[in-house]
Amino acid sequence: MPTPPSTPPPNRAPAGPEPGAPSGVNPDMNEVVGSDDLLFVTLDTLRYDVAAELAAAGRIPHLARHLPGGRWEERHAPGNFTYASHQAMFAGFLPTPAAPGPHERLFAARFAGSESTAPATYVFDTPDLVSGLAAAGYRTVCVGGVGFFNKQGALGGVLPGLFQESHWEPEFGVPSPRSFEAQVECAERVVADLPAERRLFLFVNVSALHQPNWFHLPGATREAGDSRATHAAALEYVDRHIGRLFAAASRRRRCFAIVCSDHGTAYGDGGYTGHRLGHEAVWTVPYAHFFLEPPISEEAR
Ligand SMILES: [Zn+2]
Repeated sequence: MPTPPSTPPPNRAPAGPEPGAPSGVNPDMNEVVGSDDLLFVTLDTLRYDVAAELAAAGRIPHLARHLPGGRWEERHAPGNFTYASHQAMFAGFLPTPAAPGPHERLFAARFAGSESTAPATYVFDTPDLVSGLAAAGYRTVCVGGVGFFNKQGALGGVLPGLFQESHWEPEFGVPSPRSFEAQVECAERVVADLPAERRLFLFVNVSALHQPNWFHLPGATREAGDSRATHAAALEYVDRHIGRLFAAASRRRRCFAIVCSDHGTAYGDGGYTGHRLGHEAVWTVPYAHFFLEPPISEEAR
């Protein structure tokens, strides 16, 4: 590696991390939990490289304005498909920064000898974060997307069953061209129906990126199918509506938000298609966490 220059070159972006760099020091989650509302969004199946390219090209402005330095952090997924990855994330194992660790975690079950539990880590005594936050007084709500959240059949009820309240409609699912708008409308109703003093942990599994996604690209056809380009168009679709989700989640008080993918997917990379397989396109995911401030006029903290 060459020695870094002592002063940044003139074209360098101000004050943000390098592309793919860790988002910096974690907030003290022991101050966040119990005070702030929490939003956890999984952009199911979103590839890191597509997410990074769109952020750099200015194609996802509503997401990018919240990303530290305007960039996604590159991380490694804790599983290579939805069920495995979400079980791990709900146990406190969010995607790991893509650099040698150990890396301090935001949340962790009490676990003797854990090397990634730090003073800023929120430690829970339950088997999973969702019930841990419920024990801390949060209303826990799941807005499902892909099949593992559809509550149809026993397996489809496992992940939603971690939450006190869960929602899934066919319109939220992967074949729906307006899945994310329907999910956002559901999230808005959840927030509106909750007593103002009650803290909220809102989880949303966004299904729009998952195949099939060809219908998000104007001019694309079912016959031509999904591609990296239609995957990118699906992320632009999500970006057009995610401001409403962020506004709902921070309507009542400050909100700590985590937005990441659960795994990527392959579009012919190395001969592979899909996920639940070991390939860089699958194990590399975009990640960010940030605070959403409430509207000034309603701020009563
Ligand atoms: Zn998934």
